[in-house]
Amino acid sequence: AASLADRDPEIADAIGKELGRQRDEIELIASENIVSRAVLEAQGSVMTNKYAEGYPGRRYYGGCQFVDIAETLAIQRATRLFGCRFANVQPNSGSQANQAVFLGLMKPGDTFMGLDLAAGGHLTHGAAPNMSGKWFNVVSYGVRPEDQMVDMDAVERLAQEHKPKIIIAGGSGYARHWDFARFREICDAVGAYFMVDIAHFAGLVAGGAHPSPFPHAHVVTSTTHKTLRGPRGGLILTDDEDIAKKMNSAVFPGLQGGPLMHVIAAKAVAFNEALAPEFKLYARAVVDNAKVLADTVKSAGYDIVTGGTDNHLMLVDLRPKSLTGKAAEASLGRAHITCNKNGVPFDTAKPTITSGIRLGTPAATSRGFGVAEFKRVGELVVETLDGLAKNGEENNAGVEEAVKAKVTELTRRFPIYA
Ligand code: PLP
Repeated sequence: AASLADRDPEIADAIGKELGRQRDEIELIASENIVSRAVLEAQGSVMTNKYAEGYPGRRYYGGCQFVDIAETLAIQRATRLFGCRFANVQPNSGSQANQAVFLGLMKPGDTFMGLDLAAGGHLTHGAAPNMSGKWFNVVSYGVRPEDQMVDMDAVERLAQEHKPKIIIAGGSGYARHWDFARFREICDAVGAYFMVDIAHFAGLVAGGAHPSPFPHAHVVTSTTHKTLRGPRGGLILTDDEDIAKKMNSAVFPGLQGGPLMHVIAAKAVAFNEALAPEFKLYARAVVDNAKVLADTVKSAGYDIVTGGTDNHLMLVDLRPKSLTGKAAEASLGRAHITCNKNGVPFDTAKPTITSGIRLGTPAATSRGFGVAEFKRVGELVVETLDGLAKNGEENNAGVEEAVKAKVTELTRRFPIYA
């Protein structure tokens, strides 16, 4: 029974360094989080050894009595958490959850609508290089030029014109609440299914800090690893028994083989954590912290897309300071503040360059940062980016080093996996 360090020192070393990076840097990537030791333990468990094609009580393999307990608990907890009747906890990722909905409710060539990638939608909502864009007829909707909010009148007009099978709400770079009731009205008027992809804000819904897509949605998909703070994975929820049956067949045998039972066990652990009263405080703090971060960055002369945020994330438009997302991401990275470059609506810069960065609060809130710390984080982001605007990419090392020292002060006060 050799340890990982003995058996494979190269991988052990990479994991050790990744732990160090997570400890020492301020994580502002909006889709990331810091899971509990309990989640890590479940995910790193012997359930990884088990084949369990099928569903609890109806498996195609023997020896499933204990993984059945884990999956049944995961399903029960997910339905309690989101207040719905049915859950499929087997999708290996958010992308596969979305693929399962498409497989279950459409045929190749059918029409669906989703938020344009360039306006904050996800690749799987119909982007051209994605399977969703190649195998279906995609009608994308966008945001209004004047306030960058979802253009609901355009959604209605496009739906009437194209009669889609599915309309998707939800995205990866949208900082505002969605008008679920109006989406559903539009869907009902044209006979479409209403799908909400809550991948980003699932934890806020679970914690009561964001409106729920139920009872409006026919089907809800999610990831489990973003604000929800579980293992990497996907989830499908519905109140409709017929849709639930279609989703179960679409996930298995439609798309996947053996489910990742160790990940499902870890999902169950995370759902239980999210059912605890403390998670409500966490979700509230994530939103409060995002507002402080947005205000701090905005008051220094940067634009925040839509003018602010209702959830855990924001898009910072760097054009007022003539900076690119690429340069900003790299400079902040050298200062130990991790984020990602992101296009802003109507961006004219290439996707590899971009005019914006996306910032999010879920991970640093998990390590204990509150509004005081996030005000400080905002100041450090501004110090770095103002330095970049003044000094240029080649000559900002002095500022980056100074900010990095202040980041270290902050991260030392809030240790993770200590
Ligand atoms: N849906 C949305 C809205 C997302 O933001 C993401 C993740 O980036 C996904 C789906 C896909 O999740 P995964 O990366 O697990 O495939």
